[in-house]
Amino acid sequence: MPALLTTIIEPFRIKVVEPIRMTTPAQREAILCGAGFNPFLIAASDVVIDLLTDSGTGAMSSEQWAGVMRADESYAGATSFFRFRDALRGITGFEHVLPTHQGRASERILFELVGGEGLIVPSNAHFDTTRANVEHSGAQAIDLRLPEASDPSNPHPFKGNMDIAALEALIASHGRARFPLVMCTVTNNSGGGQPVSLENLRAIRAVCDRHNLPFFIDACRFAENACFIKKREPGQSHRPVREIAREMFDLADGATISAKKDGMVNIGGVLLIRDAALFRRACNLLILTEGYVTYGGLAGRDLEAMAQGFEEVLDEDYLAYRLRSTEYLGERLRAHGIAIVEPPGGHAIYIDARSLCPHIPAAQFPGQAVVCALYRVGGIRACEIGSVMFGGEGRTPPPMELVRLAIPRRVYTQSHIDYVAEAAGEVFRQRHSLRGLRIVEAPPVLRHFSARFEEIEA
Ligand SMILES: *Cc1c(COP(=O)(O)O)cnc(C)c1O
Repeated sequence: MPALLTTIIEPFRIKVVEPIRMTTPAQREAILCGAGFNPFLIAASDVVIDLLTDSGTGAMSSEQWAGVMRADESYAGATSFFRFRDALRGITGFEHVLPTHQGRASERILFELVGGEGLIVPSNAHFDTTRANVEHSGAQAIDLRLPEASDPSNPHPFKGNMDIAALEALIASHGRARFPLVMCTVTNNSGGGQPVSLENLRAIRAVCDRHNLPFFIDACRFAENACFIKKREPGQSHRPVREIAREMFDLADGATISAKKDGMVNIGGVLLIRDAALFRRACNLLILTEGYVTYGGLAGRDLEAMAQGFEEVLDEDYLAYRLRSTEYLGERLRAHGIAIVEPPGGHAIYIDARSLCPHIPAAQFPGQAVVCALYRVGGIRACEIGSVMFGGEGRTPPPMELVRLAIPRRVYTQSHIDYVAEAAGEVFRQRHSLRGLRIVEAPPVLRHFSARFEEIEA
Protein backbone atom coordinates (compact mmCIF):
# COMPACT_ATOMS: atom_id res chain seq x y z
CA MET A 1 0.00 0.00 0.00
CA PRO A 2 1.45 3.42 -0.89
CA ALA A 3 1.49 5.81 2.08
CA LEU A 4 -1.45 8.22 2.17
CA LEU A 5 -0.19 11.81 2.39
CA THR A 6 -1.96 13.96 4.94
CA THR A 7 -0.65 17.47 4.14
CA ILE A 8 -3.54 19.56 2.85
CA ILE A 9 -2.20 22.00 0.25
CA GLU A 10 -3.75 25.03 -1.42
CA PRO A 11 -5.58 23.24 -4.28
CA PHE A 12 -4.62 25.87 -6.87
CA ARG A 13 -1.57 27.35 -8.57
CA ILE A 14 -0.93 31.08 -8.78
CA LYS A 15 -1.04 32.61 -12.27
CA VAL A 16 -1.40 36.31 -11.49
CA VAL A 17 0.28 37.99 -8.54
CA GLU A 18 -0.39 41.23 -6.74
CA PRO A 19 2.51 42.78 -4.82
CA ILE A 20 2.27 43.41 -1.09
CA ARG A 21 3.96 46.63 0.02
CA MET A 22 6.01 46.00 3.15
CA THR A 23 6.11 48.69 5.85
CA THR A 24 8.41 49.34 8.83
CA PRO A 25 7.20 49.54 12.44
CA ALA A 26 7.92 53.31 12.42
CA GLN A 27 5.82 53.82 9.28
CA ARG A 28 2.98 51.76 10.75
CA GLU A 29 3.04 53.79 13.97
CA ALA A 30 2.56 57.00 11.97
CA ILE A 31 -0.15 55.44 9.76
CA LEU A 32 -2.07 54.10 12.77
CA CYS A 33 -2.02 57.49 14.55
CA GLY A 34 -3.06 59.22 11.31
CA ALA A 35 -6.02 56.83 11.03
CA GLY A 36 -7.25 57.63 14.53
CA PHE A 37 -6.43 54.04 15.65
CA ASN A 38 -9.22 52.73 13.41
CA PRO A 39 -8.16 50.20 10.75
CA PHE A 40 -11.18 51.08 8.58
CA LEU A 41 -9.46 54.46 8.04
CA ILE A 42 -6.14 52.92 6.91
CA ALA A 43 -5.49 52.78 3.14
CA ALA A 44 -5.35 49.18 1.88
CA SER A 45 -1.92 49.86 0.33
CA ASP A 46 -0.61 50.42 3.89
CA VAL A 47 -1.71 46.93 4.99
CA VAL A 48 0.60 43.89 4.78
CA ILE A 49 -1.97 41.13 5.39
CA ASP A 50 -5.61 42.22 5.16
CA LEU A 51 -7.93 40.13 7.33
CA LEU A 52 -10.58 42.83 7.77
CA THR A 53 -13.24 40.74 6.02
CA ASP A 54 -13.77 37.74 3.75
CA SER A 55 -16.48 39.68 1.89
CA GLY A 56 -15.70 40.29 -1.77
CA THR A 57 -11.97 39.94 -1.09
CA GLY A 58 -11.44 36.49 -2.65
CA ALA A 59 -9.46 35.61 -5.77
CA MET A 60 -11.35 34.49 -8.87
CA SER A 61 -10.29 31.43 -10.86
CA SER A 62 -9.08 31.30 -14.47
CA GLU A 63 -12.52 29.91 -15.42
CA GLN A 64 -14.26 32.85 -13.74
CA TRP A 65 -12.06 35.33 -15.60
CA ALA A 66 -12.75 33.46 -18.83
CA GLY A 67 -16.47 33.88 -18.07
CA VAL A 68 -15.91 37.61 -17.55
CA MET A 69 -14.61 37.86 -21.12
CA ARG A 70 -17.33 35.62 -22.56
CA ALA A 71 -20.15 37.51 -20.86
CA ASP A 72 -23.23 38.73 -22.71
CA GLU A 73 -23.97 42.35 -21.78
CA SER A 74 -27.45 42.48 -23.31
CA TYR A 75 -29.96 44.43 -21.25
CA ALA A 76 -32.66 41.74 -21.20
CA GLY A 77 -32.42 37.96 -21.46
CA ALA A 78 -28.62 37.85 -21.62
CA THR A 79 -27.02 34.40 -22.02
CA SER A 80 -25.05 35.17 -18.85
CA PHE A 81 -28.28 35.51 -16.88
CA PHE A 82 -29.46 32.09 -17.99
CA ARG A 83 -26.11 30.53 -17.04
CA PHE A 84 -26.37 32.20 -13.64
CA ARG A 85 -29.99 31.18 -13.13
CA ASP A 86 -29.40 27.58 -14.18
CA ALA A 87 -26.33 27.24 -11.93
CA LEU A 88 -28.35 28.50 -8.95
CA ARG A 89 -31.35 26.32 -9.87
CA GLY A 90 -29.10 23.28 -10.10
CA ILE A 91 -27.46 23.87 -6.72
CA THR A 92 -30.43 25.14 -4.71
CA GLY A 93 -33.47 23.64 -6.42
CA PHE A 94 -35.17 27.06 -6.38
CA GLU A 95 -36.97 27.84 -9.62
CA HIS A 96 -37.17 31.60 -9.01
CA VAL A 97 -33.72 33.21 -8.93
CA LEU A 98 -33.07 36.95 -8.79
CA PRO A 99 -29.63 38.55 -9.10
CA THR A 100 -28.94 41.52 -6.80
CA HIS A 101 -25.86 43.69 -6.37
CA GLN A 102 -25.11 42.22 -2.95
CA GLY A 103 -26.66 40.49 0.05
CA ARG A 104 -28.18 43.56 1.63
CA ALA A 105 -30.11 44.38 -1.58
CA SER A 106 -31.77 40.94 -1.32
CA GLU A 107 -32.53 41.69 2.35
CA ARG A 108 -33.90 45.13 1.58
CA ILE A 109 -36.31 43.72 -1.04
CA LEU A 110 -37.40 40.82 1.18
CA PHE A 111 -38.11 42.92 4.25
CA GLU A 112 -39.79 45.70 2.32
CA LEU A 113 -42.22 42.96 1.20
CA VAL A 114 -42.72 41.02 4.43
CA GLY A 115 -41.59 43.39 7.22
CA GLY A 116 -43.48 46.21 8.91
CA GLU A 117 -44.46 47.84 12.23
CA GLY A 118 -45.30 45.44 15.03
CA LEU A 119 -43.80 42.38 13.34
CA ILE A 120 -41.05 40.18 14.77
CA VAL A 121 -38.33 38.38 12.77
CA PRO A 122 -36.51 35.70 14.77
CA SER A 123 -33.13 34.29 13.72
CA ASN A 124 -30.30 32.24 15.21
CA ALA A 125 -28.39 35.55 14.90
CA HIS A 126 -29.11 38.32 12.44
CA PHE A 127 -26.16 39.66 10.50
CA ASP A 128 -25.85 43.44 11.01
CA THR A 129 -27.24 44.40 7.57
CA THR A 130 -30.12 41.91 7.99
CA ARG A 131 -30.96 43.39 11.37
CA ALA A 132 -30.75 46.92 9.93
CA ASN A 133 -33.12 46.01 7.07
CA VAL A 134 -35.60 44.27 9.39
CA GLU A 135 -35.58 47.29 11.70
CA HIS A 136 -35.78 49.74 8.80
CA SER A 137 -39.09 48.09 7.83
CA GLY A 138 -40.39 48.78 11.35
CA ALA A 139 -40.13 45.16 12.51
CA GLN A 140 -38.12 43.83 15.44
CA ALA A 141 -35.11 41.54 14.85
CA ILE A 142 -34.58 38.93 17.57
CA ASP A 143 -31.57 36.62 18.02
CA LEU A 144 -32.17 33.17 19.50
CA ARG A 145 -28.66 31.84 20.13
CA LEU A 146 -27.79 28.74 22.07
CA PRO A 147 -26.54 29.56 25.60
CA GLU A 148 -23.25 27.79 24.61
CA ALA A 149 -22.67 30.42 21.90
CA SER A 150 -21.81 33.15 24.42
CA ASP A 151 -18.97 31.12 25.96
CA PRO A 152 -15.89 31.41 23.69
CA SER A 153 -14.22 28.28 25.11
CA ASN A 154 -17.23 25.97 24.71
CA PRO A 155 -16.40 23.50 21.90
CA HIS A 156 -20.02 22.69 20.88
CA PRO A 157 -19.80 21.48 17.22
CA PHE A 158 -22.87 23.47 16.08
CA LYS A 159 -22.71 26.67 18.07
CA GLY A 160 -24.57 28.45 15.25
CA ASN A 161 -27.78 26.52 16.00
CA MET A 162 -30.99 28.30 16.86
CA ASP A 163 -32.47 27.75 20.34
CA ILE A 164 -35.61 25.86 19.23
CA ALA A 165 -37.31 26.02 22.64
CA ALA A 166 -36.81 29.80 22.65
CA LEU A 167 -38.35 30.02 19.16
CA GLU A 168 -41.41 28.05 20.29
CA ALA A 169 -41.74 30.22 23.40
CA LEU A 170 -41.42 33.44 21.38
CA ILE A 171 -44.15 32.41 18.93
CA ALA A 172 -46.38 31.22 21.79
CA SER A 173 -46.02 34.47 23.73
CA HIS A 174 -46.62 36.89 20.81
CA GLY A 175 -48.95 34.85 18.60
CA ARG A 176 -48.30 33.54 15.11
CA ALA A 177 -49.72 36.61 13.33
CA ARG A 178 -46.79 38.80 14.39
CA PHE A 179 -44.23 36.65 12.56
CA PRO A 180 -43.79 37.16 8.80
CA LEU A 181 -41.09 34.47 8.65
CA VAL A 182 -38.27 32.76 10.54
CA MET A 183 -34.68 33.39 9.42
CA CYS A 184 -31.53 31.35 9.97
CA THR A 185 -27.96 32.47 9.13
CA VAL A 186 -25.58 29.76 7.87
CA THR A 187 -22.88 29.83 8.99
CA ASN A 188 -23.52 32.18 11.86
CA ASN A 189 -21.19 35.10 11.13
CA SER A 190 -21.89 37.14 14.27
CA GLY A 191 -21.29 34.12 16.49
CA GLY A 192 -17.81 33.15 15.30
CA GLY A 193 -18.55 31.65 11.86
CA GLN A 194 -20.14 28.68 13.61
CA PRO A 195 -22.22 26.19 11.64
CA VAL A 196 -25.87 25.22 11.98
CA SER A 197 -26.64 21.48 11.95
CA LEU A 198 -29.02 19.79 9.55
CA GLU A 199 -30.90 18.54 12.60
CA ASN A 200 -31.40 22.15 13.75
CA LEU A 201 -32.52 23.31 10.28
CA ARG A 202 -35.02 20.44 10.19
CA ALA A 203 -36.28 21.39 13.63
CA ILE A 204 -36.80 25.03 12.53
CA ARG A 205 -38.69 23.74 9.48
CA ALA A 206 -40.90 21.62 11.74
CA VAL A 207 -41.72 24.62 13.96
CA CYS A 208 -42.50 26.70 10.85
CA ASP A 209 -44.76 23.93 9.50
CA ARG A 210 -46.66 23.72 12.79
CA HIS A 211 -47.33 27.47 12.72
CA ASN A 212 -47.62 27.80 8.94
CA LEU A 213 -44.67 30.21 8.77
CA PRO A 214 -42.20 30.66 5.89
CA PHE A 215 -38.57 29.76 6.63
CA PHE A 216 -35.78 31.78 4.97
CA ILE A 217 -32.04 31.12 5.08
CA ASP A 218 -29.32 33.76 5.02
CA ALA A 219 -27.15 31.43 2.95
CA CYS A 220 -23.98 33.52 2.47
CA ARG A 221 -21.70 30.67 3.64
CA PHE A 222 -23.91 27.72 2.66
CA ALA A 223 -21.01 25.64 1.29
CA GLU A 224 -18.82 26.06 4.38
CA ASN A 225 -21.85 25.19 6.51
CA ALA A 226 -22.60 22.07 4.44
CA CYS A 227 -18.96 20.98 4.74
CA PHE A 228 -19.09 21.37 8.55
CA ILE A 229 -22.24 19.21 8.55
CA LYS A 230 -20.35 16.54 6.59
CA LYS A 231 -17.41 16.71 9.03
CA ARG A 232 -19.23 17.03 12.33
CA GLU A 233 -22.81 15.74 12.16
CA PRO A 234 -23.42 12.05 12.90
CA GLY A 235 -24.49 10.10 9.80
CA GLN A 236 -23.47 12.79 7.28
CA SER A 237 -19.82 11.95 6.52
CA HIS A 238 -20.61 9.78 3.48
CA ARG A 239 -22.68 12.40 1.63
CA PRO A 240 -21.38 14.76 -1.04
CA VAL A 241 -21.34 18.37 0.23
CA ARG A 242 -23.46 19.37 -2.78
CA GLU A 243 -26.19 16.97 -1.65
CA ILE A 244 -26.10 18.32 1.93
CA ALA A 245 -26.27 21.89 0.62
CA ARG A 246 -29.27 20.91 -1.49
CA GLU A 247 -31.05 19.47 1.53
CA MET A 248 -30.43 22.74 3.41
CA PHE A 249 -32.06 24.71 0.58
CA ASP A 250 -34.88 22.16 0.24
CA LEU A 251 -35.88 22.89 3.83
CA ALA A 252 -36.35 26.61 3.08
CA ASP A 253 -39.00 28.77 1.40
CA GLY A 254 -36.41 31.30 0.34
CA ALA A 255 -32.87 32.53 0.80
CA THR A 256 -30.89 35.75 0.73
CA ILE A 257 -27.26 35.36 -0.37
CA SER A 258 -24.26 37.65 -0.57
CA ALA A 259 -22.20 36.11 -3.37
CA LYS A 260 -19.19 37.99 -1.99
CA LYS A 261 -18.70 35.06 0.41
CA ASP A 262 -19.27 31.52 -0.91
CA GLY A 263 -20.23 32.85 -4.36
CA MET A 264 -16.46 33.46 -4.74
CA VAL A 265 -16.90 36.83 -6.46
CA ASN A 266 -15.98 40.42 -5.66
CA ILE A 267 -19.55 41.70 -6.04
CA GLY A 268 -22.99 40.14 -6.35
CA GLY A 269 -25.97 38.71 -4.51
CA VAL A 270 -28.96 36.42 -4.94
CA LEU A 271 -32.57 36.34 -3.78
CA LEU A 272 -34.36 32.98 -3.91
CA ILE A 273 -38.11 32.75 -3.33
CA ARG A 274 -40.29 29.64 -3.63
CA ASP A 275 -43.69 31.39 -3.60
CA ALA A 276 -44.63 32.62 -7.10
CA ALA A 277 -46.74 35.58 -5.91
CA LEU A 278 -44.06 36.84 -3.52
CA PHE A 279 -41.46 36.37 -6.24
CA ARG A 280 -43.46 38.57 -8.65
CA ARG A 281 -43.63 41.33 -6.04
CA ALA A 282 -39.86 41.01 -5.48
CA CYS A 283 -39.32 41.39 -9.25
CA ASN A 284 -41.24 44.68 -9.17
CA LEU A 285 -39.09 46.06 -6.35
CA LEU A 286 -35.90 44.84 -8.04
CA ILE A 287 -36.82 46.75 -11.20
CA LEU A 288 -37.67 49.84 -9.16
CA THR A 289 -34.28 50.21 -7.45
CA GLU A 290 -31.75 47.63 -8.70
CA GLY A 291 -32.29 46.93 -12.37
CA TYR A 292 -34.14 44.64 -14.73
CA VAL A 293 -34.79 41.07 -13.50
CA THR A 294 -32.13 39.53 -15.74
CA TYR A 295 -29.26 41.62 -14.36
CA GLY A 296 -30.31 43.04 -10.96
CA GLY A 297 -27.84 45.91 -10.89
CA LEU A 298 -24.89 43.84 -12.09
CA ALA A 299 -23.01 43.49 -15.37
CA GLY A 300 -23.29 40.31 -17.43
CA ARG A 301 -19.69 39.54 -16.48
CA ASP A 302 -20.62 39.54 -12.79
CA LEU A 303 -23.37 36.99 -13.48
CA GLU A 304 -20.85 34.76 -15.32
CA ALA A 305 -18.41 35.00 -12.42
CA MET A 306 -21.17 34.04 -9.96
CA ALA A 307 -22.41 31.12 -12.09
CA GLN A 308 -18.88 29.68 -12.05
CA GLY A 309 -18.10 30.67 -8.43
CA PHE A 310 -21.13 28.91 -6.96
CA GLU A 311 -20.01 25.70 -8.70
CA GLU A 312 -16.38 26.01 -7.61
CA VAL A 313 -17.21 26.59 -3.95
CA LEU A 314 -18.75 23.11 -3.78
CA ASP A 315 -15.48 21.46 -4.81
CA GLU A 316 -14.65 19.22 -1.86
CA ASP A 317 -10.87 19.67 -2.21
CA TYR A 318 -11.39 23.42 -2.02
CA LEU A 319 -13.65 23.11 1.03
CA ALA A 320 -11.28 20.71 2.81
CA TYR A 321 -8.48 23.23 2.26
CA ARG A 322 -10.70 26.15 3.27
CA LEU A 323 -11.82 24.73 6.61
CA ARG A 324 -8.41 23.17 7.36
CA SER A 325 -6.43 26.34 6.66
CA THR A 326 -8.70 28.38 8.93
CA GLU A 327 -8.42 25.73 11.64
CA TYR A 328 -4.62 25.78 11.19
CA LEU A 329 -4.49 29.49 12.08
CA GLY A 330 -6.61 28.70 15.15
CA GLU A 331 -4.18 25.96 16.22
CA ARG A 332 -1.16 28.26 15.82
CA LEU A 333 -2.80 31.00 17.94
CA ARG A 334 -3.81 28.48 20.60
CA ALA A 335 -0.21 27.20 20.69
CA HIS A 336 0.92 30.76 21.53
CA GLY A 337 -1.51 30.77 24.47
CA ILE A 338 -4.12 32.97 22.77
CA ALA A 339 -7.75 32.17 23.62
CA ILE A 340 -9.97 31.96 20.53
CA VAL A 341 -13.64 31.26 19.96
CA GLU A 342 -13.82 27.47 19.91
CA PRO A 343 -14.12 25.53 17.75
CA PRO A 344 -12.53 27.45 14.81
CA GLY A 345 -15.12 28.76 12.36
CA GLY A 346 -15.12 28.41 8.58
CA HIS A 347 -14.17 31.87 7.36
CA ALA A 348 -12.41 33.41 10.36
CA ILE A 349 -10.67 32.97 13.67
CA TYR A 350 -11.96 35.13 16.51
CA ILE A 351 -9.52 36.13 19.28
CA ASP A 352 -11.06 36.47 22.74
CA ALA A 353 -9.73 39.96 23.57
CA ARG A 354 -11.28 40.01 27.04
CA SER A 355 -9.15 37.07 28.14
CA LEU A 356 -6.05 38.49 26.38
CA CYS A 357 -6.36 41.92 28.03
CA PRO A 358 -8.20 41.51 31.34
CA HIS A 359 -6.67 44.84 32.47
CA ILE A 360 -8.64 46.78 29.80
CA PRO A 361 -12.34 47.28 30.70
CA ALA A 362 -15.02 46.96 28.00
CA ALA A 363 -15.49 50.75 28.07
CA GLN A 364 -11.87 51.11 26.89
CA PHE A 365 -12.29 48.62 24.03
CA PRO A 366 -9.93 45.65 24.61
CA GLY A 367 -10.70 44.36 21.08
CA GLN A 368 -9.63 47.63 19.49
CA ALA A 369 -6.40 47.53 21.56
CA VAL A 370 -5.61 44.09 20.09
CA VAL A 371 -6.51 45.28 16.58
CA CYS A 372 -4.04 48.19 16.96
CA ALA A 373 -1.32 45.88 18.30
CA LEU A 374 -1.69 43.48 15.34
CA TYR A 375 -1.26 46.39 12.96
CA ARG A 376 1.77 47.79 14.82
CA VAL A 377 3.52 44.42 15.05
CA GLY A 378 2.84 43.01 11.58
CA GLY A 379 0.79 45.44 9.47
CA ILE A 380 -2.12 43.02 9.88
CA ARG A 381 -5.61 44.47 9.56
CA ALA A 382 -8.27 42.78 11.71
CA CYS A 383 -11.76 43.76 12.78
CA GLU A 384 -13.07 44.47 16.28
CA ILE A 385 -16.36 42.72 17.04
CA GLY A 386 -17.24 43.93 20.52
CA SER A 387 -17.97 47.17 22.33
CA VAL A 388 -16.84 49.41 19.46
CA MET A 389 -19.17 47.69 16.99
CA PHE A 390 -22.12 46.97 19.28
CA GLY A 391 -21.71 49.31 22.27
CA GLY A 392 -22.73 52.93 22.76
CA GLU A 393 -25.51 54.95 24.36
CA GLY A 394 -28.66 52.94 25.00
CA ARG A 395 -27.44 49.68 23.46
CA THR A 396 -27.08 46.32 25.21
CA PRO A 397 -23.37 45.61 25.82
CA PRO A 398 -22.16 42.70 23.67
CA PRO A 399 -21.58 39.34 25.42
CA MET A 400 -18.02 39.01 24.05
CA GLU A 401 -15.07 41.25 23.11
CA LEU A 402 -13.70 39.65 19.95
CA VAL A 403 -11.15 40.38 17.24
CA ARG A 404 -11.94 38.72 13.93
CA LEU A 405 -9.20 37.52 11.59
CA ALA A 406 -11.27 36.86 8.45
CA ILE A 407 -9.56 34.83 5.74
CA PRO A 408 -10.15 35.95 2.12
CA ARG A 409 -10.82 32.97 -0.16
CA ARG A 410 -7.84 31.64 -2.21
CA VAL A 411 -5.73 34.75 -1.51
CA TYR A 412 -3.11 34.02 1.14
CA THR A 413 -0.69 31.07 1.32
CA GLN A 414 0.37 29.12 4.39
CA SER A 415 3.46 31.31 4.86
CA HIS A 416 1.24 34.39 5.04
CA ILE A 417 -0.79 32.63 7.72
CA ASP A 418 2.42 31.62 9.58
CA TYR A 419 3.42 35.29 9.55
CA VAL A 420 0.03 36.25 11.03
CA ALA A 421 0.45 33.62 13.75
CA GLU A 422 3.94 34.86 14.59
CA ALA A 423 2.70 38.46 14.84
CA ALA A 424 -0.19 37.35 17.06
CA GLY A 425 2.31 35.53 19.30
CA GLU A 426 4.24 38.79 19.66
CA VAL A 427 1.02 40.62 20.56
CA PHE A 428 0.42 37.95 23.19
CA ARG A 429 3.87 38.58 24.72
CA GLN A 430 3.16 42.33 24.84
CA ARG A 431 -0.39 41.88 26.15
CA HIS A 432 0.21 43.45 29.59
CA SER A 433 1.41 46.69 28.00
CA LEU A 434 -1.50 47.09 25.52
CA ARG A 435 -3.46 50.25 26.25
CA GLY A 436 -7.19 50.96 26.19
CA LEU A 437 -8.70 53.62 23.94
CA ARG A 438 -11.28 56.35 24.15
CA ILE A 439 -13.47 57.60 21.30
CA VAL A 440 -12.73 61.19 20.31
CA GLU A 441 -15.13 61.40 17.36
CA ALA A 442 -17.94 59.06 16.20
CA PRO A 443 -21.14 59.13 14.14
CA PRO A 444 -24.42 58.12 15.85
CA VAL A 445 -24.85 54.86 13.89
CA LEU A 446 -22.44 52.16 12.65
CA ARG A 447 -19.67 53.98 14.49
CA HIS A 448 -17.03 51.27 13.99
CA PHE A 449 -16.58 52.31 10.34
CA SER A 450 -15.50 55.88 11.00
CA ALA A 451 -14.88 56.51 14.73
CA ARG A 452 -11.53 58.04 15.72
CA PHE A 453 -9.79 57.04 18.93
CA GLU A 454 -6.91 58.06 21.17
CA GLU A 455 -4.92 55.77 23.43
CA ILE A 456 -5.30 56.12 27.18
CA GLU A 457 -2.02 56.76 29.04
CA ALA A 458 -1.08 53.81 31.24
C1 LIG B 1 -22.02 39.75 4.23
C2 LIG B 1 -23.25 39.24 4.82
C3 LIG B 1 -24.50 39.80 4.51
C4 LIG B 1 -24.67 41.05 3.67
O1 LIG B 1 -24.12 40.92 2.43
P1 LIG B 1 -23.48 42.16 1.60
O2 LIG B 1 -23.09 41.53 0.32
O3 LIG B 1 -22.32 42.66 2.41
O4 LIG B 1 -24.54 43.19 1.45
C5 LIG B 1 -25.63 39.22 5.07
N1 LIG B 1 -25.54 38.17 5.89
C6 LIG B 1 -24.35 37.60 6.22
C7 LIG B 1 -24.31 36.41 7.11
C8 LIG B 1 -23.17 38.11 5.69
O5 LIG B 1 -22.01 37.55 6.04
